[in-house]
Amino acid sequence: MDIKKIGIIGAGTMGTGIAQVAATSGFEVILNDMGDDLLQRSLKIMDKSLSKLAEKGKIEEDKEAILGRMKTTTDLSELKDADFAVEAVFEDFDVKRNVLQELDKLLPPEVILTTNTSSISVTRLAALTERPSKFMGMHFMNPVPLMALVELIKGIATSTDTFEQVKGLTEKMGKTPVEANDFPGFISNRILIPMINEAVYALMEGVGSAEAIDTVMKLGMNHPMGPLALADLIGLDVCLNIMEVLYEGFKDSKYRPCPLLRKMVDAGYLGRKAGKGFYDYSG
Ligand code: NAD
Repeated sequence: MDIKKIGIIGAGTMGTGIAQVAATSGFEVILNDMGDDLLQRSLKIMDKSLSKLAEKGKIEEDKEAILGRMKTTTDLSELKDADFAVEAVFEDFDVKRNVLQELDKLLPPEVILTTNTSSISVTRLAALTERPSKFMGMHFMNPVPLMALVELIKGIATSTDTFEQVKGLTEKMGKTPVEANDFPGFISNRILIPMINEAVYALMEGVGSAEAIDTVMKLGMNHPMGPLALADLIGLDVCLNIMEVLYEGFKDSKYRPCPLLRKMVDAGYLGRKAGKGFYDYSG
């Protein structure tokens, strides 16, 4: 299928980044969210990000030409002539169910529908639609304009043709696709979040201070960021939620969330966004 126009639902952190990258790659984009204020905010973020990229010589076209391919709407039905769709609404099954079922009714049956979910089963989301063979996960990384990877997750019913088309589209968006099957956490969070959880155990048990743990992983393992600083960046609530998904999904005790992680979430120490996590950001 010739994909020219991409519909994106949800103009938050991820939807904004995906829309920007799609428009930069020459696609027409129609971006949907619930309020005009949210869409205006999203456009401002893209404008700023594109200005920075232009300064660094990282985009070939004028910012105006890129943003000229972007249309925003609060009316989901305006996505009916999209050739491809990416859902990036809240990480909540009921919210995603409503959006996906509405989209499924709206879009022609040949159109591929994808989700940017980090932790919900792609197979379960696909089963909500009448097009499970044309449904899959397209897991972009944050910040989307800077991160090369897109994890492509095949649900149990995703067809080979759908996978190949999404792979081609990912490459046209200048990203590197990696194939994953639909198991809790996919590849990325299956490995990353238990590593963070283990770092929290090491802190709780007094193996080392937060600084010591992060320094070992940075200087000893060449990670650009220590796991505790990374947890603060991701959000401790998000990390806990993904650990719970892994624990629920596998029923294996190796995925039990660290009690200190839970305690910090209970206290509201959610990381950077709360001004406090494993480190203090109040200054
Ligand atoms: P976010 O909260 O920043 O944005 C979600 C947006 O969806 C909001 O603007 C909200 O108004 C909108 N929305 C909610 N219900 C809607 C509806 N019915 N119709 C239209 N818009 C609606 O969240 P985010 O961080 O961008 O995450 C979006 C998805 O991407 C989630 O599934 C998340 O798990 C996944 N994800 C997030 C990250 C990350 O680092 N933030 C990374 C990879 C994947």
